[in-house]
Amino acid sequence: MAEKRWIAETLFDDLGFRMTFQVDKVLYELQTEHQHLVLFEHPFFGKMLMLDGATQITKKDEFIYQEMMSHVPLFAHGNAREVLIIGGGDCGIAEEVLKHKTVERLTQVEIDPAVVEFAKEHFPEFTKPVFTDKRFESVIDDGMKYVARTERRFDAIIVDSTDPQGPGKVLFSTKFYAACKRCLNKGGVMVTQSGVPIFQPAELTSSISKFRKQFADGGCYVAAIPTYIGGHMAMGWATDRKSLRQTPVKTIAARYRKAGSFSTKYWTPEVHVAAFALPRFIAETVAKAR
Ligand code: SAM
Repeated sequence: MAEKRWIAETLFDDLGFRMTFQVDKVLYELQTEHQHLVLFEHPFFGKMLMLDGATQITKKDEFIYQEMMSHVPLFAHGNAREVLIIGGGDCGIAEEVLKHKTVERLTQVEIDPAVVEFAKEHFPEFTKPVFTDKRFESVIDDGMKYVARTERRFDAIIVDSTDPQGPGKVLFSTKFYAACKRCLNKGGVMVTQSGVPIFQPAELTSSISKFRKQFADGGCYVAAIPTYIGGHMAMGWATDRKSLRQTPVKTIAARYRKAGSFSTKYWTPEVHVAAFALPRFIAETVAKAR
């Protein structure tokens, strides 16, 4: 019997370790104009997508990141109508955002059409409800160029990007955050994929420093995502409404009930509020941000 292939996540090679995944079947593998894309079946995690050697999404644990990147900013805001996703081509976050009936329009700006096309084929549970929802607009463009040019204004911007390498690098820049600030309505909020603090502390400190140059409040909240190895994953938080991150659990719960208490597997009003209580080592990493 042929030897099983194993695929390594090479994101932390510079730290001297790799996580490797046994491959039951490669479903899709392509060097696109922007990045190397491989989608494969894993015996435990199910379908897994890797871009440039970094795990993006697995069927087993995608709900944690997708729910926390969607429901935390939207329930904290309380009345987000215009929402922008930068990246997010797998449409997992878009599917969660569209559960909010208050959202009138959702625009997703993804640089790589191959990611959206493969998602239509391999993640119909996300793409079907999304592409059949008339509130949804899919744009293929560089997120930096889009926010630098658009005349639109948004109540929430969700940056579901790859890591600060390749096409994703510019999405961690001061000019990108400044352009996002320009596109936000008064009282708007931006959340970002901000890495795994125990392995990527400099990335977190650097992002929050840049947030604090543009916004009255810059920080992060956390969640544990098994295949984003390293324990806590940090989600960057930037807004001029300092009170937003202290929204009481009663208020969040009332907004959730008003939204029809749609199904979630990780996010709850209590988990939402608790996610801003940072473990000391992460709070110290955040405190280094000037
Ligand atoms: N949750 C994943 C993570 O945390 O690593 C990210 C998932 S999502 C698939 C990341 C998406 O960002 C990819 O589809 C990638 O093509 C897209 N992306 C990277 N750079 C981009 C850019 N400059 N503009 C728009 N999309 C970009």
